[in-house]
Amino acid sequence: MPPQAEAIVDLDAYRANIATLAAYAPNSALMAVVKADAYGHGMPQCARAAREAGAAWLGVATIVEALALRADGDTGDVLCWLASPGADFASATAAGVEVTASSAEQLAEIIAAGARPKVQLKVDTGLSRNGAYGDQWTALVAAAAAAQSAGTAEITGVWSHFACADEPAHPANDEQERVFTEAVAELAAAGVTPALRHLSNSAATLTRPSAHLDLVRVGIASYGINPDRSLVHDATLLPVMTLQAELAAVKRVPAGTSVSYGHTWTAERETTLGLVPIGYAEGILRTASNKGQVAYGDQRAPVTGTICMDQFVVDLGDASAQRGDVVTVFGPGGPTADDWAIAAGTIAYEVVTRLGGRIERTFR
Ligand code: PLP
Repeated sequence: MPPQAEAIVDLDAYRANIATLAAYAPNSALMAVVKADAYGHGMPQCARAAREAGAAWLGVATIVEALALRADGDTGDVLCWLASPGADFASATAAGVEVTASSAEQLAEIIAAGARPKVQLKVDTGLSRNGAYGDQWTALVAAAAAAQSAGTAEITGVWSHFACADEPAHPANDEQERVFTEAVAELAAAGVTPALRHLSNSAATLTRPSAHLDLVRVGIASYGINPDRSLVHDATLLPVMTLQAELAAVKRVPAGTSVSYGHTWTAERETTLGLVPIGYAEGILRTASNKGQVAYGDQRAPVTGTICMDQFVVDLGDASAQRGDVVTVFGPGGPTADDWAIAAGTIAYEVVTRLGGRIERTFR
């Protein structure tokens, strides 16, 4: 039985995007960021494809994600960067996963959990999320230097993350680079010179060669999505995911027919409605009600009425549609994930990472 709704993941496109992005930073290693189930595209399959495309590193947020990569057989370099107190640093170290220390306390916790862990230091250069800042950085530098001399940890990297890389002219970018350079110098002055210094996400990889350093961490662009719809670059990024569904019902209705909860849309003329059997439980954002569109053949069919938990309705006009016909929610030849993001008042990152529920994924 064919799936009612299918997310088709084009791994050739993904590999091609990794190669494209690697060419933007030819003197840096590439980390494929596969956290959050590879931004909704399927972590094990994308991780394997990323390695085939030459990614030296895989990046994930949590230790649980890193261990899932190991369980899938990945033996390469993996970094994770978000750990709450009590995180399983022991398993990470035993599995050869590199973890991130954002404070001297966290470094002590990591060292206590495992034998000679490989640790990368995170400095907060202005995103004000994770990472050590000001005196905290000075304390982390001292702790890292002590751990290195005592041989209790191997300090393999130092890194940070941009706040405004998708706005290349934003003054915060230069400032973060400056603060990062100073932080690395402070570390070197304490005798710690890790092999990897890294700062760039997709947007900085595409637009900011000065920040490529030893490694670039690419997420959204590897999935064929521009980090920001206004970001200008000359890379050809191929969309990786196509989301399709079979119409579960088709009906001809007279003018004046109102649709879905709250009757927020009413047909102005006789028309054909199609029922798409996925909804906000699958990650179809409800804020795209009356705004999103799907493709039916060459035609665009707007979402009519409120998107429901399991379904939404589209206006097919006078198309001679049949139950079981396929619509493309987004993907090549149809609207893009970013079109849905605009309709929903969000960013394409959220459109793809939210997908789940009863959508089946297939890989080509
Ligand atoms: N590095 C870190 C620390 C991240 O959290 C992320 C994603 O949020 C990335 C890199 C990849 O960012 P992008 O998807 O914009 O390339």
